[in-house]
Amino acid sequence: MKWSTEIDTALNERELERYRRQMMLQGFAVEHQQKLKASTALIAGVGGLGGTAALYLAMAGIGKMVFIHSGDLTLSNMNRQILMKHDWIGKSRVIQAKKTIAEINPDVDVEIIDERFTEQNVGRFLDGTDIVLSARPNFYERRLLNRACVDNEVLMVEAAMNGMEGYLFNIVPGITPCLNCVFPDDNPDWEELGFAVLGAVSGTLGCLMSLEAIKLLTGYGSPLMSKMLWFNTMNMEFRKYPLYKDNECVCCGRK
Ligand SMILES: [Zn+2]
Repeated sequence: MKWSTEIDTALNERELERYRRQMMLQGFAVEHQQKLKASTALIAGVGGLGGTAALYLAMAGIGKMVFIHSGDLTLSNMNRQILMKHDWIGKSRVIQAKKTIAEINPDVDVEIIDERFTEQNVGRFLDGTDIVLSARPNFYERRLLNRACVDNEVLMVEAAMNGMEGYLFNIVPGITPCLNCVFPDDNPDWEELGFAVLGAVSGTLGCLMSLEAIKLLTGYGSPLMSKMLWFNTMNMEFRKYPLYKDNECVCCGRK
């Protein structure tokens, strides 16, 4: 099928051609593509997980992304951080991430912030955000993001990996459990940058994050909602578990 600008003036000729193959998906109409173009995603960490998710959101045609990640690229990042280049080691990750996305899809607007999340700044960063992709390497920042998303009714995709395993679920404020319902206590074994990671595992999970974000933003397909996907790539076991809202949750209880 040939798409015509007469059907939809919001997508230009280049966009119609770039996204032509995904608009052939059964049930995925030009309106879904427009919703994606009208969306802003905050990518909380552009490492192995968030960087991969950002790459696929850009290729799919998200309108805008905000990359928040502090610090400079290291050699040990290079086994998984696909937006990075070897000759960029020692320089700011977010600047290189923005350059890579611009080279792949110049129609995506990218804003960069070289900071960590704090109680003071998290609310400000959510301004104008439709969805947060939670890919911080510590629970402290993930909890800040979760609370801010619940308070501001912003969607969140939560995912993490450890070694060959990964998990993924969504937080839809007022509907699904939040991060705090699922993990009321910090995992004492969760040590920032202290866990093993293989690029293909973080990349797989990043792709799955981008898929959930696309579905939540466009209304296409069926997002996980109150279920967690867990997998172990060591033996390719994939499972879904139901998640339960805690009515006494300090973040989302009674909301
Ligand atoms: Zn909760």
